[in-house]
Amino acid sequence: MALPYDHLIVAAGATHSYFGHDEWQPYAPGLKTLDDAFEIRRRILLAFEAAEKEPDAARRDSWLTFVVIGGGPTGVEMAGTLAEIACFTLPGEFRRIDPSHARIILLEGGPRLLQAMPEELGRRARDQLEELGVEVCLGAMVTAIGADRVQVKPSSGTVSPADSHAIASRCVIWAAGVAASPLGAQLARAVAATVDRAGRVVVEPDLTLPGHPEINVIGDLAAARSFAPGQKPKPVPGVSPAAKQMGRAAAANILARLGGRAPRAFRYRDYGNLATIGRNAAVVDLMSPLGRFKFSGYPAWLFWLFAHIYFLIGFRNRIVVLIDWASAYWSRQRYARIIADIDTPAEPASAVRP
Ligand SMILES: Cc1cc2nc3c(=O)[nH]c(=O)nc-3n(C[C@H](O)[C@H](O)[C@H](O)COP(=O)(O)OP(=O)(O)OC[C@H]3O[C@@H](n4cnc5c(N)ncnc54)[C@H](O)[C@@H]3O)c2cc1C
Repeated sequence: MALPYDHLIVAAGATHSYFGHDEWQPYAPGLKTLDDAFEIRRRILLAFEAAEKEPDAARRDSWLTFVVIGGGPTGVEMAGTLAEIACFTLPGEFRRIDPSHARIILLEGGPRLLQAMPEELGRRARDQLEELGVEVCLGAMVTAIGADRVQVKPSSGTVSPADSHAIASRCVIWAAGVAASPLGAQLARAVAATVDRAGRVVVEPDLTLPGHPEINVIGDLAAARSFAPGQKPKPVPGVSPAAKQMGRAAAANILARLGGRAPRAFRYRDYGNLATIGRNAAVVDLMSPLGRFKFSGYPAWLFWLFAHIYFLIGFRNRIVVLIDWASAYWSRQRYARIIADIDTPAEPASAVRP
């Protein structure tokens, strides 16, 4: 179906990037959509089930070794959550294994966690993860992923020798990279625009394409810059506040054009970054009119909680989520333990059901 348009806004977002190794995808799903989240939950729960049934000690250990690849906010949050599930949610539910003995390993190729945040917060995130029992390996470049192992090459001297070649793991989660939707490259080819290394479409200051003021590209799909008075243009990060602000700016510019006024250059207002690590653990880098505030631990976790509830749409949703989170906080339970689609396990069927 072809639709004619006067003004077009393209906001197709980003998807996982395996840096040219798409063959890793079946072994290391990424987290982007709700379906991805269900799949990851299924693999984690099945790994504990498989460990419970596994008579061979080495194979059992590999089921109980969870590797998260990528030390950005997604990887940090995933590793912290996994550690909490293993230590606080699942103990007592198995007869042969102790889920709290599971190894959670977070691999990061760079020298520190949360590279988009100040160094101090990256350090505090690492401390909080290690308190939860997560093994954080910095300078650890993944070179191969298979059904039962992750191959790691140290990119600096900080990887422990035991982990410097292969980690036996049957549950791997990819949080290392995103690339723009392929629609960006298609669009760029069609209108002779350019894309950057991540496949994002390079846009003009007003978020339109060069020579095509009727086409706006926004959100994670756009390689956009922020133009603040008196400052050098800065790249806009791939986060949801930036995407929402670009949406409003593109709409305002279309209205301006229709009204015969000049469009305005996009200015991103950065209110800061948050990442949660687990119960009572988070890091916050807050920009406010009074200055920049960096804090971590319990106050940061409370701030994260209320910020997320504040941005939910509708009073009813806020109350329901607040009650649900309060119940999960006090009981340490996570009730949604459904393993769907059990006939297509992540591993060979024999490994899951001996
Ligand atoms: C796991 C994870 C955690 C994140 N956590 C945070 C966070 O805590 N805070 C934060 O600020 N940001 C976070 N982000 C980033 C944030 O989600 C993105 O910056 C934001 O969603 C970008 O919005 P968007 O509208 O550009 O793209 P998206 O939200 O990705 O939406 C794009 C939509 O377009 C659809 N689409 C793609 N191609 C086509 C096509 N050809 N035709 C039709 N539809 C198409 C996609 O299915 C998708 O629904 C997170 C991202 C991930 C993956």
